[in-house]
Amino acid sequence: MGMAIAIRPQILRMEPYAPGRPVEEVQREFGLDRVIKLASNENPFGPSPRAIAAVTEAAARMHIYPDGASRALRQAISQKFGVTDAHILLGNGSDELIHILGVMFLGEPGDELIMGDPGFSRYDASAHLAGCRLVKVPLRADLTHDLDAMLAAITPRTRMVFIANPNNPTGTVITRAEFDPFLARVPDGVVVVLDEAYGEYAADAPDPVSALDYVRSGAPVIGLRTFSKAYGLAGIRVGFGFAPAEVVDAYHRAREPFNVNSLAQVAAIAALEDEDHIAESVAHNHAGLQFLAEVFCAAEAHPYRSFANFAYADLGRPAQPVFEALLRRGVIVRSGSHVGHPHCLRVSVGRMDELEIFATEFRQVLDLI
Ligand code: PMP
Repeated sequence: MGMAIAIRPQILRMEPYAPGRPVEEVQREFGLDRVIKLASNENPFGPSPRAIAAVTEAAARMHIYPDGASRALRQAISQKFGVTDAHILLGNGSDELIHILGVMFLGEPGDELIMGDPGFSRYDASAHLAGCRLVKVPLRADLTHDLDAMLAAITPRTRMVFIANPNNPTGTVITRAEFDPFLARVPDGVVVVLDEAYGEYAADAPDPVSALDYVRSGAPVIGLRTFSKAYGLAGIRVGFGFAPAEVVDAYHRAREPFNVNSLAQVAAIAALEDEDHIAESVAHNHAGLQFLAEVFCAAEAHPYRSFANFAYADLGRPAQPVFEALLRRGVIVRSGSHVGHPHCLRVSVGRMDELEIFATEFRQVLDLI
């Protein structure tokens, strides 16, 4: 009976991506009216009204294929960031950029991808899909990237080094004083990917590293950005990036022809133009991080200094029961138990009313367990 289905074993060893639990599912499972989701680092204020208007207007033309070159969006990014078109990458979310870059750089079994641990799980997937070796370098005790250890992990088979800056799930950043000597010692043939998905929130980071500076100077660096976080467009999927021209050229050969859909293109252009929306989102985020840090400190937990749109805290006790108790009370967060931090909790910066609910439920939960 049945046909022999021969799926690559490498694929079957992968775990499917575990997204934050959807609100509706948690509502149903626990019979709750009020459920808030602080688990996926979305913009709690939603998209810019200009993006909604642009998508509504463009919806009537969704029977037409998108502009495969995303010309208008590339031009808008080019103007805003002061970089020529030849250096711009666009994808169906930065997830797709991570995936295709892996396909482009990791060819042979035995090629290596280096990332911080814990780090964003899609880097992991990139190495697995390419059938390559994943090298995870533990973060330092303060949960920042250990660039010296990452450098020491480079071998003649290393092709890519991924650094999320700020990092997910820890919110920590690297400094120029650390990154410049690191980059200077990275051997030829290794590309460094700086994933700045949360970059807009990190404007106040000390001695900041910006991928764009390195791409402009011709260094073997790729910067990744997204419209999913500060720009509030996670559901429509647009990621972008900055890269050396030869990487962009190769990317155009490797990518799908219509990888950024037509509604996503107009939404992203409108979101880029709405600078007030971004500024307000970032300003609120600072207040929200401050609020969450105080909630954690009052509970004798240790929040790490976050430069992203989520807080990460060591509760000094197992986080999984806290996560589960919060879930039963309609507050969806993330526990660090899946990434080797069984005492840590990650909480996205929601609206202030949501953060107040989190604070109340969190205090009650801690008293109960
Ligand atoms: N990089 C990092 C560090 C992230 O946390 C995320 C979102 N979880 C992404 C990339 C992917 O974002 P998107 O595909 O929505 O652009």
